[in-house]
This record gives sequence, C-alpha cells and structure tokens, in this order.
Amino acid sequence: MKELNKKYITEIKKELPQLEIYTQKEERLIYAHATFPVEYKWILQAEYKYLPDAVLAPESEAELIKIMKIAHKNKVQLIPYGGGSGIVGGSIAEDNEIMVDTKKMRKFEINPTNLTAVAGAGLTGAEFENRLNEKGYTCGHYPQSFQSAVFGGMAATDAIGTFSTKYGKMCDMVNSLRVVLPDGQLFKSHKAPRKSSGPDLKYLFIGSEGVYGIITEVEMKIYPLAEKRAFEAYTFPDTHSGLEAVRNFMRLGINPPVVRLYDEVESEPKIKKLAYEKGMCVLFLVYEGLEEIVEIERKKVREVCISHGGKYKGEEGGENWFNTRFSTKGMLDYDRKKGGTADAIEVAAPWNKIENVWREMRKALEPLCDYVDCHFSHFYHSGASVYVIFHAKTDDDYQGEELYNLCLKKAIEASLANGGNVSHHHGIGKAKAPWLVEEHGDAGIYLLEAIKEKIDPNRLLNRGVLGL
Ligand SMILES: Cc1cc2nc3c(=O)[nH]c(=O)nc-3n(C[C@H](O)[C@H](O)[C@H](O)COP(=O)(O)OP(=O)(O)OC[C@H]3O[C@@H](n4cnc5c(N)ncnc54)[C@H](O)[C@@H]3O)c2cc1C
Repeated sequence: MKELNKKYITEIKKELPQLEIYTQKEERLIYAHATFPVEYKWILQAEYKYLPDAVLAPESEAELIKIMKIAHKNKVQLIPYGGGSGIVGGSIAEDNEIMVDTKKMRKFEINPTNLTAVAGAGLTGAEFENRLNEKGYTCGHYPQSFQSAVFGGMAATDAIGTFSTKYGKMCDMVNSLRVVLPDGQLFKSHKAPRKSSGPDLKYLFIGSEGVYGIITEVEMKIYPLAEKRAFEAYTFPDTHSGLEAVRNFMRLGINPPVVRLYDEVESEPKIKKLAYEKGMCVLFLVYEGLEEIVEIERKKVREVCISHGGKYKGEEGGENWFNTRFSTKGMLDYDRKKGGTADAIEVAAPWNKIENVWREMRKALEPLCDYVDCHFSHFYHSGASVYVIFHAKTDDDYQGEELYNLCLKKAIEASLANGGNVSHHHGIGKAKAPWLVEEHGDAGIYLLEAIKEKIDPNRLLNRGVLGL
C-alpha cells in the first residue's frame, strides 16, 4: 500500500472505528474492475494490472463526509464505486486509489403526495422498483443492468432504461439529490419541482461520473402502477420507413414507453424466431397507462405505421422481447472469449442525421467484426439514439484489447463525422475521454476543467474520468 494511503487508513480507523474497510487482495480484486470490456482482456492477459489499495464501505452520509474531509486534507485519491456495471472504464484504480463502495447507503422513503421516492446511493434499480411496486408505484426505470446498477452510479452516469420514451432518462427522472463534494461539504438540491434560481445545480452532478462529488441519495419521480400494459410488433420494408413511422407518431405526441426498431441485420434472427417475412425490419412496442389512453395510442400508432409500409404482427414479438429484456449474455460471452471483444456503442443525433449516423457506424465497423447489430431504442422530440453493437475476434487477449480500441475509435469517429455525439447514456469514463472535446468544444472543456479546478484542485476524486 502507498505510504500516503497507509497514513490515511490509520486516521480513518481512528475517526471511524466501525467503518468496514477491505484490504485483503481477494477483496480488492472484486473492486479492481467494473464491466468495461477491456477489463475482461486484462483479466485474461496476465496478473490483473490495477488494484485499489483499499476499499471503504460507509453506511451513512455522515461517514462519507468524514472520509472525504480526511482524504481532502491528506491529498488521497478516491474512486466512488456503485454496482460496478459501468462499461466505459470509469473506476479503474490506475494509481492504487482507494475505492469508496456506496452500496451500504440504502435509504428508501416514499412520499405519495409529492409522487417521489428517495433511493439511497446503494439501492439497485431492481430493489427500488420492487419496493415501489409493493406500495403500488413504479419509477419506470429499467436499464438492462437493473439487477446490479445502483442509484448513485445510475445518476452519476445519467443512465437510461428501456421504458425511456415515456419515463425519460435519469436527468428527467431525478427530482433532487444530495452529494458530498471533494472537500466534504454536503450539497442538497432543493426539492421544489422547478427553479428559477440560477442554473439548476443538480445537473452538475447527473452525468458527472463522480468527478465533482459522491452522490449519497436521489429523490426520484414515481407514478401509480399502470392500469394497462400492451405489447405490439410491426415489420417494415427497411430501416428508413421504420424510423419515419416512429418520427411521425411522435410528432402526434404519442410516446409509448418502449419503442425498439431493429435494422435489417439485427432483425434477421427475430424474424426467423417469429416466422415473419424475410428481409424486413422489426419494431417492438410496449404501451402502458390508463386503458382508454393506451387504446387511443395503439390506434394512432397503427395508422401511422401502416401509412409508412408497416405490417401489424400482433402482440407476441413485443411480449417475447419484454420477457427477455434484461439479457445481454451474447455480448458478454464474446468479451470472455480468448481474443474476443464486444461492446454496445450508443450515440444520439437529431432526426435529420440519425439515419446517416447508423449507416456510417455500421459501415465503419463491419470490416473489423464478425458481426454488427444495430437498433434504435430511445426516441425524442428532436432525434433518437442508436446502438451499434460490435462482436470481433482475434487470436489473443493482447490483440483483443487493440481490436477493441480500434472498433471504439472507428465507431465514435463515424458518429461524430456524421452529426452524432460521443455517448448517449453509457458515459465517457476514461475510454471515451479523448473525443469529449469534439462534443463540448474548447469552451465546454474549459468549463468542465474550471469547475474541477475550483472544487477539487488536487484532482483527488475519479482522476482521469471525463479526461479531467
Ligand atoms: C449488462 C449491462 C447492461 C447495461 N444496460 C444499461 C442500460 O440499459 N442503460 C444504461 O444507461 N446503462 C447500461 N449499462 C451501463 C451501466 O449499467 C450504467 O452506466 C450504470 O448506470 C452504472 O451504474 P453502477 O452503479 O453500476 O455504477 P459503477 O459502475 O459502479 O460506476 C459508474 C461510474 O460512476 C461513478 N460512481 C459510482 N457511484 C457513484 C456515486 N454514488 N456518486 C458519484 N459517482 C459515482 C464511478 O466512479 C464510475 O465512474 C449496462 C451495463 C451492463 C454491464
């Protein structure tokens, strides 16, 4: 352990004798990686490269405040760790940093009048949702990492769930939050639903990936459980007509929670399984809400889809998707293969650019990959996001790492060159930091840097993440 860290741990033990601290190698190995695909390659290459010196597991905000104050005083580097499902290299202990595991911060509190509920940083999406469901509510947030990602991590990465077209992204769902700043000050954003009091500072932390502070709890908007849930599937002659159908029913103000359009290639196995006509693109939809409203939405969506060449395929396809919605096994299996590498690169673009972004990203990746899957599953007033999922293989895990880096570069550069952005929801971490300037511009990076410099001048918290 680094001398500085040893001294810090000694002081922490004195100040917080009850705090759980993990220092055994086996314990530290558990925290040595999250789910960044290259970490699989490092595991398979040789002895694991990056181990934290220790892991602290506070149970309360008060403990975390002490941890941060003492770290600030001693200039000790910390990395917040949530569910460890982050896939952009946001928690790599390159300098034997000390990790702060937030999973013991498990507050849960419902306010039925305000239609909000507080989730401690350490509650998983599934734990929170199950507890809400028991009381007759939902928060509508179902990322595919629902079972492992926790609320601190999900707010820090501005995560999104599969029901996003109705319920939104974390930035739309969080009503207020609490954050311990690098020097140990506690920031509490106001619980009022809207503000005109200068910039709404909660947005400084949503998506900040832990570079400006550690989130201790979030107050989420909640909704009574839906009266009706309905599933549908359509096929379209091509991706273009599917996208046009979605764009046009959204123009009518219809936002079914789940809208998933697969391109011609990713549709193929689904078409085979569901015995639809070959060569088409598949659209799955899920609606929920008051029964009468759901029925009106279905009617209008059907009119628009049919007018764009869509064919109604009944409920089965949408229901099948729903029943397997948390599985990402195919991609993770590929990462574990010798020399194999896979990742889902997710970007967003305005409506008038998204089709080109999809086409050019696919084109850039195909020569490097065994296969590439693409679908569109988060839609907005002014545009959409696309997932481009690459599966590539080479001979060994050193080349696998190089191939991953090349695929990531080609994908992001194709997005940027065609009007897309760097990331829609997985975040930047360390992996995508080199391209951040292309999205924010020099003035944007200046702002990110200036805030960091002011609140964490020694760059102690999550050093290197967001390129800071
Ligand atoms: C199989 C799989 C499916 C996925 N599906 C989705 C999906 O559908 N939608 C989606 O958006 N993402 C998805 N992801 C990505 C990932 O789940 C999200 O980025 C998630 O929000 C990370 O949460 P976590 O608790 O696991 O964070 P971690 O991985 O622990 O941390 C992520 C980053 O946030 C920082 N951090 C963690 N906790 C805090 C805190 N309390 N305060 C400040 N900073 C903190 C960490 O230092 C790190 O930089 C998926 C990942 C996997 C592996």
